[in-house]
Amino acid sequence: MDEETFVRIINLLAERYGVQAPIHLDNPDPFRVLVGTILSHRTRDEMTDLAFSRLFSKYKNAEEIARAPLNDIIRLIKPVGFYRQKAKRIKEVAKLILKHYNGQVPRSREVLIELPGVGYKTADIVLSVAYGEPVVAVDTHVDAVSKRLGIAKWNAKYEDTRKSIEKITPLHMRRIVNSILVKFGREICRKPRPRCEMCPITAYCEWYKSRRQEVKTKN
Ligand code: SF4
Repeated sequence: MDEETFVRIINLLAERYGVQAPIHLDNPDPFRVLVGTILSHRTRDEMTDLAFSRLFSKYKNAEEIARAPLNDIIRLIKPVGFYRQKAKRIKEVAKLILKHYNGQVPRSREVLIELPGVGYKTADIVLSVAYGEPVVAVDTHVDAVSKRLGIAKWNAKYEDTRKSIEKITPLHMRRIVNSILVKFGREICRKPRPRCEMCPITAYCEWYKSRRQEVKTKN
């Protein structure tokens, strides 16, 4: 797929979904974005936003969370799945950031992924949302959509998928691609079964074309 086509797709989907990020990602504070992303793992946005607001209404930054009683963090973030593990992780990350980085979240992928529970996706969300870096964070939805559209190869790993998407995304659009494709992946291009019958971008989709070809061949 070329850049022009992908820009057309993103603009089309942006009209449908808007570019507004959920509360836990609508924030310029890197520590809050990092915690919000940890909270969001395998959790619906509404629940993540709720836990996020509860946590940060009481504790404001890495220093306060590092010193907070673990049980209180657990209580505050209870709306999200795996809240016990996430509470431990958040406190651990806060302590490390306080100890090694003076309370500031590092602006480096290589350093970020050294933090416990922080992988490429989380690091890229922090870099993109909080630091304004032109990076496309690839979560499970972005991964599936990009592979079905034929942007990345089926067996591509995180880094190859990210690079394939970034190659056809102008710098100024890279920060919105994740949130738009996540919304599209949740509503229409679902895993494991996409709802192609209601998809507005079938004309651009390799997966859709190959399925139609299969049906024709069988008939
Ligand atoms: S046609 Fe189907 S597989 Fe392709 S992008 Fe749309 S929903 Fe996803």
